[in-house]
Amino acid sequence: MTEVPKSGLTASDKAAVLVAQLAAKTIRKLGLGLGSNLPGRIARKLSPSVLSHLSSQSAKGVVAVTGTNGKSTTSGILSEILRTAGFTFAHNRQGANLVTGITASLVESATWQSGISADMCLFEIDEAALPVVAKEVKIGTVLVTNLFRDQLDRFGELDTTAKLISAGISVNHSVAILNCDDPNVSQLVSDEKRFFYGIEDAADATDAAHAKNQELAYCGKCGAEVAFRRVFYGQLGHWYCPSCGNERPAPQIVARDVEVFPTSSRFKLQIGATEESCVLPLPGLFNVYNALAAAACAHYLGVSNQAIRYGLKEYSTLFGRSEKLTIDGKSVIVQLIKNPAGATQAVSSCVKDNRGRLLIAINDNLADGRDVSWLWDADFEQLAVSPRVKLTVSGQRAEDMAVRMKYAGYPQDKIVCQPKLEQALNQCLSEMEEGETLWLMPTYTCLLELQKMLKNMGVAMSCT
Ligand SMILES: [Zn+2]
Repeated sequence: MTEVPKSGLTASDKAAVLVAQLAAKTIRKLGLGLGSNLPGRIARKLSPSVLSHLSSQSAKGVVAVTGTNGKSTTSGILSEILRTAGFTFAHNRQGANLVTGITASLVESATWQSGISADMCLFEIDEAALPVVAKEVKIGTVLVTNLFRDQLDRFGELDTTAKLISAGISVNHSVAILNCDDPNVSQLVSDEKRFFYGIEDAADATDAAHAKNQELAYCGKCGAEVAFRRVFYGQLGHWYCPSCGNERPAPQIVARDVEVFPTSSRFKLQIGATEESCVLPLPGLFNVYNALAAAACAHYLGVSNQAIRYGLKEYSTLFGRSEKLTIDGKSVIVQLIKNPAGATQAVSSCVKDNRGRLLIAINDNLADGRDVSWLWDADFEQLAVSPRVKLTVSGQRAEDMAVRMKYAGYPQDKIVCQPKLEQALNQCLSEMEEGETLWLMPTYTCLLELQKMLKNMGVAMSCT
């Protein structure tokens, strides 16, 4: 990688850093939040070029992580690997992933006298914000996780999102690190330098004829619907176009022999001719993809295989994304759910835990997506195969979730409907027996409520 030349800070950049840092401190002191956006807005007002100038100071450049699902987990794993490898970096780890949040996080890691001294900047960036940020920041590497149809509320169409990401990559001719198993991702920016990662085989894989909840995807060359030789979940798998012969590109970084357990997964990570056995303390195939994405990016950035393996193992999960907690000595796993593919994966992990209890909490606020019809596209039927003691449903749309479970074939007398999340949680905890695990599956704003409740109980979720 080429070193980005150091550039000095202007007087207004220095003022911006100083004032924004003061604002962030004040916001936190007054208990008004984490100060993850407003300081960025203030800094940009004082110096519109502050983001551009600060980011250009990082010696090894800027890495962006984008995609619909898994951005935070992927950048969290990547940061753990980079830390293990001895890199220093600035990272927007509070998950504020629009241009103001990114500015705020960078200003936070700077000093007003000399700016940024980190080796690199690691930015989790919202898909729509990528082209905006790319105009100000020379992004060297863009890592794309996946493109699911879960943000229709905001963007209208998947095509629009794909175009935004492509535009963001093309501004700086960034190197694109892409998931070759996702036809929506692996067909992006064919004119730019691309590097692919993918899963070779997994115990959970199905052939296309038997795949449930498989999502449609299209060939970028001829527009035909793509077919699959093997499906992992959603539209992720070994795809090909039956009409023109276009197909999944061959990956340079591969996960093979993937095995998924209730709270962890194991796979062989193949990089070139070498193979490393990896253990990941996270459930679900979607987290194997997140780990693989991070490993691919780290490898591209020159990190050793050993540091990659160690970083994967050490990774402790970020806020709300498959977090393991202990509450009053009881074991709890929290997994944010927000779309059919993610919920199906979370539920399939829970089903494998025969000592698991389950609390599903659904809200329909703006940040959750107002339309909860996606619940009907997630595979909750797998829970009905061996119904556990009790299933608790909660949140503003607890009733809808109860109906959904009834239609999934879950025995009605085992469904507890308690719309108040705090009461639902307390009830579940009080009924738990030795050796059981409570699986909590909240939508986004339920997760925020949960975070507050847990804080009052003295349990801090990471990233808070
Ligand atoms: Zn085609």
